[in-house]
Amino acid sequence: MKYTYKNTIVSILFIILTNFSFGQTNEIKITFIGNAGFHMTDGNTNIYFDFPYKSGAYGYMTYDETELNKIKDNSIFIFTHKHADHYSKKIVKKLNGKIYSGSNRKKISRLEKDISDFKIKSFRTKHRFSFNHYSYIIDWHGKKFFISGDTEHPETIGLIKGIDYAFIPTWILFYAKEKNITIDAKTKVLYHLYPNQKVEEKPTTDFIIFDKQGMNIK
Ligand SMILES: [Zn+2]
Repeated sequence: MKYTYKNTIVSILFIILTNFSFGQTNEIKITFIGNAGFHMTDGNTNIYFDFPYKSGAYGYMTYDETELNKIKDNSIFIFTHKHADHYSKKIVKKLNGKIYSGSNRKKISRLEKDISDFKIKSFRTKHRFSFNHYSYIIDWHGKKFFISGDTEHPETIGLIKGIDYAFIPTWILFYAKEKNITIDAKTKVLYHLYPNQKVEEKPTTDFIIFDKQGMNIK
């Protein structure tokens, strides 16, 4: 009887410890879901950008319903704006977790109290037909991620130095070139493509093209 009791305690401790160390991955994993939507996690905190959106909106990418079931509990959802290819009012209403978009984006800085590993800053950026469009910079232990969203204006990203991963639509490359603006990013992640859209950019080491849903960056 005593032995079993001890055994149970040992097993419980083992489960707690292995789960704990599993949580401390100390690296960021990013999974592309579709359009400008992706999941970012360090094993402890789960952040979704521009997801859930309306599947197939404006001829952009569809996604399987199972993607919604995969959403982790107590996640953080950050939206650049509320166009249907980035945001679904219907689905977002049913989410539990913290939801940020233009209207409450200033509260995002308060997150640092709970999730000290991530520092998140928002920038107002312009996008046609949207009065409330924001780009974000995420700092995770000095690793910088820039989330551009749909903005057509490369001026904001042009001001930021030492980005590790810049999530940008192809048109930002075009406008940056036109305006002679340098994007100082080690890796440019081209996202928000149409299904089967081909990108001219060569898949060199400083480019990742989000053309296959489910692909990962580690
Ligand atoms: Zn869009």
